[in-house]
Amino acid sequence: MHFDYVIVGAGFAGSVLAERLATQADKKILIIDKRPHIGGNAYDCLNEDGILIHQYGPHIFHTNSPEVVTYLSQFTEWRPYEHRVLASVDGQLLPIPINLDTVNKLYGFSFTSEELADYFASVGEPVKDIKTSEDVVVSQVGRDLYEKFFRGYTRKQWGVDPSELDKMVTSRIPTRTNQDDRYFTDQFQCMPLHGYTKMFEKMVAHSNIQLMLGTDFKQVKDELSYDELIYTGPVDEYFDFCFGKLPYRSLRFDHQTVDVEDYQPVSVVNYPNDHAYTRITEYKKLTGQEHPKTSITFEYPQDEGDPYYPVPRPENAALYRQYKQLADEQKSVHFVGRLGTYRYYNMDQVVAQALTLYKKLVGADSLQEAI
Ligand code: FAD
Ligand code: UDP
Repeated sequence: MHFDYVIVGAGFAGSVLAERLATQADKKILIIDKRPHIGGNAYDCLNEDGILIHQYGPHIFHTNSPEVVTYLSQFTEWRPYEHRVLASVDGQLLPIPINLDTVNKLYGFSFTSEELADYFASVGEPVKDIKTSEDVVVSQVGRDLYEKFFRGYTRKQWGVDPSELDKMVTSRIPTRTNQDDRYFTDQFQCMPLHGYTKMFEKMVAHSNIQLMLGTDFKQVKDELSYDELIYTGPVDEYFDFCFGKLPYRSLRFDHQTVDVEDYQPVSVVNYPNDHAYTRITEYKKLTGQEHPKTSITFEYPQDEGDPYYPVPRPENAALYRQYKQLADEQKSVHFVGRLGTYRYYNMDQVVAQALTLYKKLVGADSLQEAI
């Protein structure tokens, strides 16, 4: 059978493009994924106790893009959810991002917001040119808070010191002088009401879309007949690592179900300084599910394993640029997604990137037209 498009990867990038091209442009699509399921890293499923868990770690949807929300709302209803995270520091569970309560509880102060701003100004170490993930935090909140909340977590998560990581990594976490304890401040924050996988099932349920799961593209590529390829796997792997391996950070997920209804006060607790894991997630607090037991996941960062995080460092960006140049030279191959473009992207950014590629492929004028 001949396909207009073969799409490698059934995550957000691949599924959005398949859905658009199949339903709006009447293209015949084959999606191939080496995993036995759709959804990519956002895949969720019921575990053996019937609790909805995220197989590849906690996924919280948040965005400021109305287009992305409008687009995804065709495939799911939403459950309002504002994410809150506590960090275990010096024997207390304290709000992260660092805010007024974090500092007052940690040090036993009773600062007002204005006093906290003055305090940050007094302990922050001026950095002329903020380049690294250490610079970002130390310049804002000083060395003690940096060491208690960021240094250990980042070293565990990335396997390198924050001083060796691009500023964009810790810049994801703001510093606040008020009591806002939400992890994100985006306009839209919600979870798919029936889970991510149900949403993906609706996206790819079209007679123009065929799925080939549990199959590595490399093993079948010579047997396929198609006009164009959309590739959402690791870009360096596609080119047989011809310029060398792009570093990715991986994780080991230790999923457990415990025989208590309630495990921890919020859905995610971070452990910057103790233990080999970075954080524990309790899913019922994300999904709203009620169940007499509860399921939790410990995340252990590691180098080997599935590529989860592109590592933002200048030398990696330089290596990626070599692959990008090669990728741009491929006439009928399009690279998209977190691994395809080696970007530390959230789900909404990947959806927007995929819609933008769709727009380009079909010659639509605007994102509105594309959705
Ligand atoms: P993926 O979901 O990785 O999909 C790529 C697919 O390609 C995979 O299924 C893979 O099996 C397949 N593939 C690769 N190579 C081949 C091959 N050779 N043959 C066949 N198939 C192949 N984002 C948020 O917005 N909020 C969050 O809270 C959040 N939390 C996260 C937590 C963790 C632990 C991680 C790792 C990521 C998180 N993200 C979060 C980011 C989010 O997972 C990504 O932005 C999004 O899933 C990327 O979609 P994608 O389609 O680009 O890639
Ligand atoms: N971070 C940290 N301490 C925390 C939370 C985050 O040092 O308590 C740093 C760490 O480097 C992490 C980055 O900020 O990788 C981004 O955090 P985020 O929660 O966005 O990571 P993700 O959910 O993508 O794993």
